[in-house]
Amino acid sequence: MDTTPLFPNLRIVSHPLVQHKVTLLRDQRTPTKIFKELVDEIAMLMAYEATADLPLEPTPVETPLERSVGRRVSGKKLTLVPILRAGLGMVEGILRLVPSARVGHIGLYRDHDTLEPVDYYFKVPGDATERDFFLLDPMLATGGSAVSAVMSLKRAGAARVRFLCLVAAPEGVRRLLDAHPDVTIYTAALDRELNAQGYILPGLGDAGDRLFGTR
Ligand code: URA
Repeated sequence: MDTTPLFPNLRIVSHPLVQHKVTLLRDQRTPTKIFKELVDEIAMLMAYEATADLPLEPTPVETPLERSVGRRVSGKKLTLVPILRAGLGMVEGILRLVPSARVGHIGLYRDHDTLEPVDYYFKVPGDATERDFFLLDPMLATGGSAVSAVMSLKRAGAARVRFLCLVAAPEGVRRLLDAHPDVTIYTAALDRELNAQGYILPGLGDAGDRLFGTR
């Protein structure tokens, strides 16, 4: 995993398989079916990295030969929270790695007048204070939705939030870390910039449309 002096809380997952798959994802010729599979696979590989520092505790285990002591992840179950709708594409891949994780959902839309994100759906497990949250959105663009989603999680009691995306713009990373310096961001790529329409350059286009074939 790489870090950059620009953003101390940003982790760039530089694993060769992740980088190879991100390039396939960017390719405009990649069809919906393959795009979906790639998002799923990259999310799983990123979750492997983003869970590397989870605390462990000793636990007894009986092997076929003797009683021993193993280790297991301590604390409450992880909670994945996709931001609707593109974040949904990252859930199944991570669940394959962490099948016991809980899944919350956050739905946001942008108000036409204020241009600010507005929650239209919010559901996470009740005991949020004790859980580790993985907030999921393939694209960290302006950072508006991410800031608002983290705020909603904190309002519900969340104290530990990691943000997992596939492609991030420097503008979005800055905005999210300015608003929530306690959040760690994991991305597969830190791209150049946003264009005037809020798309990431070089980016991969509209992740939701490419995932669900609604272009
Ligand atoms: N959302 C996307 O899906 N793509 C972008 O480039 C920016 C935001």
